[in-house]
Amino acid sequence: MSPGLYIHVPFCRSKCPYCAFYSIPSPSLIPLWWEGLKEEIILYRDRFDPFDTLYVGGGTPTSLDPGMLKRLMGYLLSHLKATRDPEVTVEANPQDLTREMIAALKGSGVNRVNVGVQSFDDGVLSLLGRNHRAEDGARAIEGLRRAGFGNMGIDLIYGIEGQDLKAWLKTLGTALSFQPEHISCYELTFERKTPFARLREEGRIAPMGESEATAFFLETSGRLEDAGYIHYEISNFARGEGYFSRHNQKYWHHVPYLGLGPSAHSFQDGRRWWNLRSIRGYFSAAKEGRPPVEGREDLTREQLRMETLATGLRTKAGVHMALIRELPGWAGAVSGLQASGLVKVLEDRLIPTKRGFLVADQIPLAFFQ
Ligand code: SF4
Repeated sequence: MSPGLYIHVPFCRSKCPYCAFYSIPSPSLIPLWWEGLKEEIILYRDRFDPFDTLYVGGGTPTSLDPGMLKRLMGYLLSHLKATRDPEVTVEANPQDLTREMIAALKGSGVNRVNVGVQSFDDGVLSLLGRNHRAEDGARAIEGLRRAGFGNMGIDLIYGIEGQDLKAWLKTLGTALSFQPEHISCYELTFERKTPFARLREEGRIAPMGESEATAFFLETSGRLEDAGYIHYEISNFARGEGYFSRHNQKYWHHVPYLGLGPSAHSFQDGRRWWNLRSIRGYFSAAKEGRPPVEGREDLTREQLRMETLATGLRTKAGVHMALIRELPGWAGAVSGLQASGLVKVLEDRLIPTKRGFLVADQIPLAFFQ
């Protein structure tokens, strides 16, 4: 399979209090990042086969100005080899999707836009510390449609204690009214060292309880499936197989990918490596012709197998039984999981049920008891 290319744009207009991705609200560092990125592209340009996916994420790629974004896309597509019909995705924040920005995306080969709407409820947006409003999300999506984007994703978040299920379903309903090709519904996590994690320690905010989270998950899945979406990964839904994220599947199936930019991860030939986070450190290394790598690990066959099991069980496709049969005590574990309604075996694959999705991280443990 062709490899994927990921570009990390480490800038945001402001920092959301729950976010652990590497991004900073410092546009003055954009020139340093851009110079480093161009050097890094040269370092890797012949080390991967032509890419069939290009994913520009972050951070917020659309926090760059439209001219810079166009330059970035043009540079990537002219300096790195791509297959004939690559999936080219850019992550966007609603308030950035001005007419100029949408035109820049349209004019630079982007064929898929993922909009970080997060909610169509102003109260929830303000709780999440987002700096846009519900109407910005709607306006952005309508603008993309008007410009002719036929492949669009909407990202949503739920998971704060006391969040109202009815209000969440209203947000889902609004998202559905735009008939996006892809919807991601993430449960909020309280990542270490984020302001939300601190607020949680201080008892000022809390994640929703398990039973509430289960209700949100099952209602979300049911509602979107009723609307014709395929629940193809724990947090991801698509309006047909052709709209599954081609890029994200590379991460789930150990297909090689190259990540460029501060903190980006890459994988090739059983080796994973990740870049320095600091933009200055990243720039200095790349400028000296050194890969700006912070760490790397060579995965053993066993580790690769475990990862395949863990990621596969988070997807509707599940895991091939050939892999399961290599695990100790597999037959008993499969029967137990089936009896608990967490998996089924279909066409020689072990497939998680919806209840299985809810405990996907724990299912692999059943094979090692
Ligand atoms: S806009 Fe996205 S990447 Fe930026 S801080 Fe907020 S959640 Fe993180």
